[in-house]
Amino acid sequence: MKTFQVNEDGYYGEFGGAYIPEILYQCVEDLKKTYLKVLESDDFKKEFHQLLRDYVGRPSPLYHAQRLSEQYGCKIYLKREDLNHTGAHKINNTIGQILLARRMGKTRIIAETGAGQHGVATATVCALMNMECIVYMGKTDVERQHINVEKMKMLGATVHPVISGNMTLKDATNEAIRDWCCHPSDTYYIIGSTVGPHPYPDMVARLQSVISEEIKKQLLEKEGRDYPDYLMACVGGGSNAAGSIFHYLDDERVKIVLAEAGGLGIDTQMSAATIQLGKLGIIHGSRTLVMQDEDGQIQEPYSISAGLDYPGIGPIHANLASSKRASVLAINDSEALKAAFELTRLEGIIPALESAHALGALAKMQFKPTDIVVLTVSGRGDKDIETYLNNIPNA
Ligand SMILES: *Cc1c(COP(=O)(O)O)cnc(C)c1O
Repeated sequence: MKTFQVNEDGYYGEFGGAYIPEILYQCVEDLKKTYLKVLESDDFKKEFHQLLRDYVGRPSPLYHAQRLSEQYGCKIYLKREDLNHTGAHKINNTIGQILLARRMGKTRIIAETGAGQHGVATATVCALMNMECIVYMGKTDVERQHINVEKMKMLGATVHPVISGNMTLKDATNEAIRDWCCHPSDTYYIIGSTVGPHPYPDMVARLQSVISEEIKKQLLEKEGRDYPDYLMACVGGGSNAAGSIFHYLDDERVKIVLAEAGGLGIDTQMSAATIQLGKLGIIHGSRTLVMQDEDGQIQEPYSISAGLDYPGIGPIHANLASSKRASVLAINDSEALKAAFELTRLEGIIPALESAHALGALAKMQFKPTDIVVLTVSGRGDKDIETYLNNIPNA
């Protein structure tokens, strides 16, 4: 049977693999040999699930959004990752990876961050575990995301502003990789999404798969069947989507709808719709779709939402899209904003701008009244209030 899970070589179809400098070969090889053993050990599982329960606040609710359902003529459940500690799904992954780092005897944690959300989630678990934490962040982003920088510092992390390139996420990632090359023996690199060289995409997907594990149980309880007709999520690098679909990847009864950031529109040069606009290339150690110019130079993506502003896409999702297992919609800034205000007024939930892209996809769908839709609200909107206030819709 065709499977959409990773193969032994770290590929999803033609996407994935580990394209890394020689000096990191041993690090990545060690990780590859260790991660499954650790993730599947009873000792890890016990500590991970205890922290997810008592520290993160899991299981996150599966909420039947009645007024939103009426609006779209189907039955919509929201998977409430916005209610997690630190306000999004990212903490599921950072907890898992720091537990792995400890078991591998590493003492120093590095991370890259764009908007600062992954940086804060990493700094949080480093405080919790009393580990040294260094976060690389483009200088442009340091200035744009002041509050997250202050949070990271308050949590005890060192934030390194990166001044190469456009001084954004891709440059921060390059710098983190450079650091890892210099300190391969004591340093663990916590990657924040289903990107990077194998085994990162699979590892992050597994750590986030607690989301779909819970959806199964919760749907069975509420609907008497453990699968929905549609799963919907936004994709930046792809981790909340991967977690939401993990246990349904090979279940063809479930239709997968992914929302990527259209920005000002996919033909405006101001977009982050990597699946629609990208071409096969290599980014951050992975063979995947990349937004690039004719010379193969990576193009700076644009989206109103900092968390979706990534010029690559996880190899899992590149494969789901190219094999048509998932349908991918580009949702523009204005459509995401409209959807965020709509959810706020219909359900009293202010979503993260990233999550608002998944919500924006609802208007492009044709549902039957009996359809059961599970949509992941990846995070809460507190961090985006300023953007919302600057974009209040005309009455
Ligand atoms: C970081 C972030 C995303 C995008 O990352 P994925 O890896 O694609 O999930 C989406 N939503 C929120 C709230 C985020 O913080």
